[in-house]
Amino acid sequence: MTQAFDVVVVGAGMVGAALATGLGRDGFKVAVIDRSSAPDFAPETPPDIRVSALSAGTERYLQELGAWNRILSMRATPYQRLAVWDEARHPLSNLMPRTLTEVQFDADGLKTSHLGHIVENSVTQQALWQSAEAEPGVTIMAGQGVSTLTPGAESVTITLEDQQTLEARLVVGADGAQSAIRTMAGIGVSRNQYSQQAMVISVRYQGPVENITWQGFYPSGPRAFLPLHSAEATHPGESWASLVWYDAPEQLARLKGLSDEALRLEIQRAFPSQLPLLTHIEARASFPIARQHAKRYFSGRVVLAGDSAHTINPLAGQGVNLGFQDAQCLQALLKEAKRAHCDLADPQWLRSYEHQRRPANRRMMMTMDLFYHLFSNRTPPLHLLRNLGLGAARALPFARNQVARYAMGIDDRLPAPLARLTDRIPGLRQL
Ligand SMILES: Cc1cc2nc3c(=O)[nH]c(=O)nc-3n(C[C@H](O)[C@H](O)[C@H](O)COP(=O)(O)OP(=O)(O)OC[C@H]3O[C@@H](n4cnc5c(N)ncnc54)[C@H](O)[C@@H]3O)c2cc1C
Repeated sequence: MTQAFDVVVVGAGMVGAALATGLGRDGFKVAVIDRSSAPDFAPETPPDIRVSALSAGTERYLQELGAWNRILSMRATPYQRLAVWDEARHPLSNLMPRTLTEVQFDADGLKTSHLGHIVENSVTQQALWQSAEAEPGVTIMAGQGVSTLTPGAESVTITLEDQQTLEARLVVGADGAQSAIRTMAGIGVSRNQYSQQAMVISVRYQGPVENITWQGFYPSGPRAFLPLHSAEATHPGESWASLVWYDAPEQLARLKGLSDEALRLEIQRAFPSQLPLLTHIEARASFPIARQHAKRYFSGRVVLAGDSAHTINPLAGQGVNLGFQDAQCLQALLKEAKRAHCDLADPQWLRSYEHQRRPANRRMMMTMDLFYHLFSNRTPPLHLLRNLGLGAARALPFARNQVARYAMGIDDRLPAPLARLTDRIPGLRQL
């Protein structure tokens, strides 16, 4: 028997589960399908290898969905300070004292209690599944993928791998970077594979939970520290952290092959001196990184959100924050469409979604690319330029703090003069 829904969301990752919850709250009948089984959490287990820096804007959104307190009741680590600096050494480095090329933001300076939280992806996802389950209009179907999509005049028929069929006015592809829904809808992508990859390492270190997240930029790629919760209960005096090491694939393959102890020593030697003393390597995994953008955000009765629509260089930890903004925008437009008694797949609403989200996502992609190229470069003029840039950021605390409040999601908008300035950047207006 075919079950009928207003919206079927394919992919109950962080973005899909959030969107399904929000739509359920707005009175839509929603199915959310994931080929994986429900995420689980046990307080004594080591952290998930995948963690994300969640912005203040994301925190507000997850509060609205009733997921934030669930996250806090599991595990989340707030950070009050964020620092970046250039670790590349070059004869021109001597022109500028090292302290001038470090930029640090702190919560006091930005008049806020914290800059963001580091949260394990499985914790965020589980909190959102619980919120989705609490909505009477939402049905979660876990453990199976989609076999086919058959478009019709007024709805689309979805056949699951176990041959169940569903019918929906609109299908949302929230099934990640390798989205099968995007392919089934015939939507292509433009893709740029970076020459660097990212290796994420879960570690324990000696000392209390740090309240800072930092990133040192080397010509081969950044090396980052993200604080996690205390390990006190099982390992007195120790805390958990997640490290990210960006480098060439061959270098990361070599590191992946090392014993835990050899890797620990190599990290201690290669990371900035701010890294606390590591006591244990728990897990490591490497991820290819690519900038990828769907050619269109919708086609017929299919619309994309999150990583299925766009992936960006994770060096500033913005990927899922952008995906949550997609979900918020799409939810608001579908609510309007419903209020206006329109078809949920009416192109006027889906076009408006693409018009709002594509430029914002593209702007963030371009900013990350600029950072990537500026910092992964050994040529002296660029080295000097980025150091001057960091020096200028240090010297202009007001503008810097305004931009930082926006970038970290503390403010919803850039202050008007700065917004006017960014609007004048060639190319952005045409996006
Ligand atoms: C090294 C690294 C570090 C990162 N750090 C950050 C950070 O600090 N902050 C940040 O904001 N972002 C970060 N990101 C990006 C972030 O992880 C992604 O943007 C985010 O996971 C995207 O969420 P999503 O729900 O769109 O997709 P996904 O997380 O990929 O979820 C997709 C879901 O769809 C399901 N699925 C897939 N195919 C099918 C199918 N055919 N049928 C049914 N279900 C399917 C999957 O099981 C999964 O549950 C990082 C990424 C990397 C690689």
